[in-house]
Amino acid sequence: MQVRTRFAPSPTGYMHLGNLRTALYTYLFARRNGGKFILRIEDTDQEREVPGAVDIIYNSLKTSGLSHDEGPDVGGPCGPYIQSQRKDTYMPYAKQLIESGHAYYCFCTKERLDEARAEAEKKGETFKYDKHCLHMSKEEIQRRLDAGEPYVIRQNIPAEGKAGFDDVIYGHVEVDCDTLDDNVLIKADGLPTYNFANVIDDHLMGITHVMRGNEYLSSAPKYNLLYQAFGWTPPVYVHLTPVMANAQRKLSKRKGDPSFEDLLAQGYLVDAVINYLVLLGWSPRGEREFFTLPELEECFDLEGLSKSPSIFDTAKLNWFNAEYIRKLSPEAFLQAATPWLAKALDPAKFDFKRLAELLQNRVEVLNQLPGMVDFLAEMPDFDPAIYTHKKMKTNPEVAKAALAAMKPVLESISDWTEQSIHDAVMEAIPATGMKNGQVLWPLRIAISGKESTPGGAFEIAYLLGRDETLKRLNQSAERLAQEV
Ligand code: GLU
Repeated sequence: MQVRTRFAPSPTGYMHLGNLRTALYTYLFARRNGGKFILRIEDTDQEREVPGAVDIIYNSLKTSGLSHDEGPDVGGPCGPYIQSQRKDTYMPYAKQLIESGHAYYCFCTKERLDEARAEAEKKGETFKYDKHCLHMSKEEIQRRLDAGEPYVIRQNIPAEGKAGFDDVIYGHVEVDCDTLDDNVLIKADGLPTYNFANVIDDHLMGITHVMRGNEYLSSAPKYNLLYQAFGWTPPVYVHLTPVMANAQRKLSKRKGDPSFEDLLAQGYLVDAVINYLVLLGWSPRGEREFFTLPELEECFDLEGLSKSPSIFDTAKLNWFNAEYIRKLSPEAFLQAATPWLAKALDPAKFDFKRLAELLQNRVEVLNQLPGMVDFLAEMPDFDPAIYTHKKMKTNPEVAKAALAAMKPVLESISDWTEQSIHDAVMEAIPATGMKNGQVLWPLRIAISGKESTPGGAFEIAYLLGRDETLKRLNQSAERLAQEV
């Protein structure tokens, strides 16, 4: 049997990280087993339709390298792969269920249902449809259909007994039928609900393994009743434990948690996000942490899937991202860093190549870059207290002397390179009677205004250029002269 898996997102307008993780597992499972990975767009809830949302799905999959074998844009033998384009597919199956007694027409008005719902709420009960329309005569149904009355088609859940299914993660799940509601299968607009469409499409598309969020766990017994009613074999179910923002709640875009696109826009690298996500709910055998997508295609398995929820940890993601940044070639990092550096610095005035060399081992997320270099564009205000450094044995007093000594040294350099600055300063230090740190620490602070900078005094002086370095040095020296 060939493995066929599907990713079935609804076009919400962004790629939720939990959904991307589902797509990733679904893709990897298909690849690992030499199967097919199918993309299906679940857009039957047309009221929630967001323009451009389908493109976001295509782009996210493309960016992350999860290439699908069948789908709306690439075609395939089971198309169309967009549910709203399959409208005519579902009705005959719904009618088949009506014939066999597993479904029925319902003409109840919104008012009646609202009333019943309010009634249930008043009693503190969860609303369940009361099968009001189940026992309507064939003639009455026909009369109302002929009169063009709006209707839905509902699943006829047995009044008693149990419904269940088997899940790879959760084992055998079983519920009492009387706890299940007669869900709508076909809505008044003729489109199926998710509850119906997922069953029909998974069957017609030959899906062998369904991986999805565990929010569908409680409905899956109902879906299994549908499979039984049709006499179809259900797929293997893998309900994934959720990705949580913290111990209390799931990751949620609406609560301000980032989507995949948000992370990329913040300067996370795709490979780092994918590597982090795959481990968020799946453990490889062994200690290894770094995986490329092709490597994952070789080793992903269902046995490693977690049985408990995972918490999205930004610090850990940042760590992964920093590691992936280190692995980039200097050219690739320069290319990735340039737009971020350009937010703070004029590329015509600063040596981005040198800056990139200094930053590649320091930055965790690219959006940190402007804040790490903006002091080069404009000297920040700073508290002279930062001249004090115990280990370096410096304080404003020492700084005052150091700057006074370095002023003529720097002024004497005409060929302004890192090497010439280094040589001139290092040559001059012994005569000052101060230690290297007592000169270099204050010098760097005097021209950067910051306690921590990418690179030391020589690199910063080089990047700033001669004029700006001397200007800053003079200003800082003057200030110390007044204040100390
Ligand atoms: N359209 C559903 C969603 O986006 C997919 C659920 C499933 O994979 O069956 O949550």
